Amino acid sequence: MNTACLVCGLVFERESGYFAGAMVVSYAIAVPILAAMVIALILIGGLDAVVALIIGNTAYLVLVPFIFRYSRVLWLHLDWLIDPDEPS
Ligand SMILES: [Zn+2]
Repeated sequence: MNTACLVCGLVFERESGYFAGAMVVSYAIAVPILAAMVIALILIGGLDAVVALIIGNTAYLVLVPFIFRYSRVLWLHLDWLIDPDEPS
């Protein structure tokens, strides 16, 4: 991830630990996706819950890089919506 926007120069990490909030966003994105995958494996695939969790979690690993990035993007937008002050 770039440290600053290549177009406008916005520094993405406003302060140390800034992206800790992105972990909450990541969790909020991940849980519904993972739950839907596991429930689909149980209901459609007819798998045991433990097997469905193992397969669902393994398949979910493919999505991790995308969710990591988009959770940071969503966190940036949410934070700038709440606190739009320019860094000094
Ligand atoms: Zn920009």
